[in-house]
Amino acid sequence: MKFNYEMPTKVFAGELRDYTQEFTGYGDKALIVTGRSSASNGSLDDVLAILGELHIAAVVFNGVEENPSDENVMEAVRMGWDSGAKFIIGIGGGSPLDAAKAVALLVPNPDKSSADLWEADSLEGRRRLPVLAIATTAGTGSEVTPFTILTTHERQTKASLPHFLFPDKAFLDAKYTVHMPDSVTLHTATDALSHLIEGYLSSQANLLSDRLVESGLGVYGAEGGHLMARMSERQFDIPVRNKLLINSALAGIVITQTRTTLPHLMGYCLTYNKKTPHGAACGILLAEYMRFHQNKEKVDNILRLLDLSNIDEFKEWLRHILDLRLSVSTDEIVDYTKVVCSNPEKLKTHPFPVAAGDISDIFTRSIT
Ligand code: NAP
Ligand code: FE
Repeated sequence: MKFNYEMPTKVFAGELRDYTQEFTGYGDKALIVTGRSSASNGSLDDVLAILGELHIAAVVFNGVEENPSDENVMEAVRMGWDSGAKFIIGIGGGSPLDAAKAVALLVPNPDKSSADLWEADSLEGRRRLPVLAIATTAGTGSEVTPFTILTTHERQTKASLPHFLFPDKAFLDAKYTVHMPDSVTLHTATDALSHLIEGYLSSQANLLSDRLVESGLGVYGAEGGHLMARMSERQFDIPVRNKLLINSALAGIVITQTRTTLPHLMGYCLTYNKKTPHGAACGILLAEYMRFHQNKEKVDNILRLLDLSNIDEFKEWLRHILDLRLSVSTDEIVDYTKVVCSNPEKLKTHPFPVAAGDISDIFTRSIT
């Protein structure tokens, strides 16, 4: 029963333009860190208009890649150094939002480099810039989590930085998510579902996070709001978009307390090596992870809340909505298993001991 709960990010849901005053108090120059789609979904124009009204200068880095690497982040950091930005505005899915956090860690520290992002002690006590996060996908919850996931070519995978940085404010305006392609909508919604399920099954789950998960899963399940049915039918009207966005933030609040567990750790290998989108990479492993999990009571609760009769039904639904064509050889599974097992700290988020054979079995049963 012993746990604590930290969630300092202020969350603002609804029309972004109603929250103009929330952009004041951070200084006269913002660095906007984003990808390409914010220029066409209305979010970048709205932010620039707000900053214009407030007479805050803006420089825009719009080159964040999907699953950004530390090298990609450094391009934005250099823009921050050159421009003297006082705060960071991240606009986008998890990729730009995570990049924005990494940029905020390094801009006030010109003596540091990308290598310092990966060193637990190297930014200890150092200043960081405030981050305002505007979500344009509904899946990662990065706008409310302190985690920053970057690609590391050195380790040939993706990993979480050892520094925690909560955005100061998170903005949830579902209209920016409307033009997501169906595949991005489905993959990111599966990421949020994965966060809820992994949070529930994590060794760090607690009574409070469990209650949040149960309410979130109920929204996916048929009884609570038909989100799973809407996902199967690819029917995404504004009420559905709102539910997906709020559930994504809720799931982010959950993993802030519980961390993610094996499907995420394993999914990073599929994303790094096969370019499988993040949510799909975790989602395709979920059903077999649940089958492997020793806490049968919680697994049964998940199925009940999702209004499913058994794990096979869940696996079939995931395969249908994710629509992946993945080909992974036995040798590749051996390699991925080694990468996963080289992260013992993260393996501890599973509440029971895990052997290499367990990891390769989950990969094999999920993918082949
Ligand atoms: P993403 O990589 O940010 O975006 C996926 C694609 O969708 C990109 O091509 C993006 O284009 C486009 N896109 C984004 N918003 C759009 C919109 N409104 N309309 C049309 N297209 C849009 O995908 P994501 O799943 O949100 O983020 C994945 C990343 O988040 C991974 O690196 C993952 O590891 C990380 N993650 C972080 C956390 C955390 O707590 N920090 C948790 C889970 C996952 P542009 O980017 O070019 O605009
Ligand atoms: Fe995720």
